[in-house]
Amino acid sequence: MSRIRRPPSFAARLAVLHAAVALAAVIPLSSVVAQETSPAAGRYDILIRHGRVFDGTGDPWLYEDIGIQGDRIVAVGDLHDATAATVIDATGLYVSPGFIDTHSHAAPALATPGLSQGRPLLAEGVTTLIGNPDGGGPIDLGKQRTALEKDGLGPNVGLMIGHGSVRNAVMGMADRKATPTELDSMRAIVRRGMEQGAFGLSSGLFYTPGSFAPTEEVVELAKVVRPFGGLYSSHIRDESDYDVGVVAAVDEVIRIAREAGIPGVVTHIKVLGPHVWGYSAAIVERIDRARQEGIEVWADQYPYDASSTGLAAALVPAWARAGGRDAFMKRLADSTQLAKIKAGMVANLDRRGGADRLQIARYRPDTTLEGRTLDQIARARNAGAIQTALDMIRKGDASVVSFNMNDADVRRFMKQPWTFTCSDGTLVPFGQGVPHPRSYGTFPRKIRKYALEDGVITLPFAIHSMTGLPAAVFRIEDRGIIRPGAFADVVVFDLAKLNDPATYLKPHQLAQGMVDVLVNGGFAIRDGRFTSELHGRVLHR
Ligand SMILES: [Zn+2]
Repeated sequence: MSRIRRPPSFAARLAVLHAAVALAAVIPLSSVVAQETSPAAGRYDILIRHGRVFDGTGDPWLYEDIGIQGDRIVAVGDLHDATAATVIDATGLYVSPGFIDTHSHAAPALATPGLSQGRPLLAEGVTTLIGNPDGGGPIDLGKQRTALEKDGLGPNVGLMIGHGSVRNAVMGMADRKATPTELDSMRAIVRRGMEQGAFGLSSGLFYTPGSFAPTEEVVELAKVVRPFGGLYSSHIRDESDYDVGVVAAVDEVIRIAREAGIPGVVTHIKVLGPHVWGYSAAIVERIDRARQEGIEVWADQYPYDASSTGLAAALVPAWARAGGRDAFMKRLADSTQLAKIKAGMVANLDRRGGADRLQIARYRPDTTLEGRTLDQIARARNAGAIQTALDMIRKGDASVVSFNMNDADVRRFMKQPWTFTCSDGTLVPFGQGVPHPRSYGTFPRKIRKYALEDGVITLPFAIHSMTGLPAAVFRIEDRGIIRPGAFADVVVFDLAKLNDPATYLKPHQLAQGMVDVLVNGGFAIRDGRFTSELHGRVLHR
């Protein structure tokens, strides 16, 4: 008989019971009995021994053994008498819940044959990600779920319903208020998304067509999410001083959370560009004050001082992009409008810190430009930066890495107890383009650089910000935590080897240091090597 120091909580027992009841529907009773009795007999499918365990609550590590049966953790404590089909000796290693990425662009790639394993994500220890950020993604989440499940999945995927996609489906790229009928149609799509399991409403009010929506529209749609227990996560209207300014844009998230009565997340929180560096102090103050008032406001963040977006989105004024690419091309052909567009681009390039701070990530019309800065390309052409950018955009949009943040702001945001971790990354075919390294290195980088090397945050704080905290905020049941009854999304890592070799010029490098990665009790990485197994699921809120 094994000694379990920490008895499972009532909720955990219930969870096990629920799991057993769910199993009973498909499996003969005898196997259910076996499922329930074997942990008590001290025999598990997988036993992780002698590890230093972070349970995901923010507590410092402690030595515990973990017994896993099927897809769940069933015992945590001193299990030295127990046996298991597979025993992981975690002596000298750290164990924690698998990492949760709350803002990921990887969902479309994960639904693509050949990419569904998501190796770069697993190598970082990511076992769950939330897709459809920034107001994007499909509006038929049922169809998306089917596509994601078709070839299996490496990590788990949760979905948001995107405001921009909903608006586009009802109103196209129209730059105006919605009519009451249009608003009703949008409400119906959001409701359907929530019924299909979305974790909440995402928005990208900086991007078209989200930027055309007044705050009141977003409040109305956020209200739809409330009875489902969902949240609101927003790429805010302005992260710089493009129009309303970054502080007012954070206020907008607070207002939407207050009026809709749901949690609000300022996603990939930042202050973009030298004009607004230092504004992190005012933003922290406002979020703290809102929380004191009882409004649930949060932020997530990636640990880099560069962001990534489209070249056009970074430089071309929003009014000039209204109506989509064709409308934009028409405006470019009109000399009066072109002059106005160029003037706006000059101001926006200044906001971004200049042409040497924009590095081309992906440019299909000419891949030789990838990895080079706009400044380098312009010099080689003997042309101005604005003219060069326009010439490039005319042939097809480029994605850019934009060096626009100040590390003091990055650190101030990171230290807040209401900030969790996201990558804003995507899943790129290995070797394609020169994408932002956040797609490969976010999670180990935050631990290595900001916790271990620079001491900006503690190790337990860092782990909590990528496990228990995001699971709690997104109401992801039974994940992000090590306790009996929780799903067995578990990572075992070598802290000394944890590393993010991906750089801005050589991003295609997998993270290092993960020894074992378990998703729903199955091995995605075993002893430092990828398995070919796919244990991920599409999660339902
Ligand atoms: Zn975004």
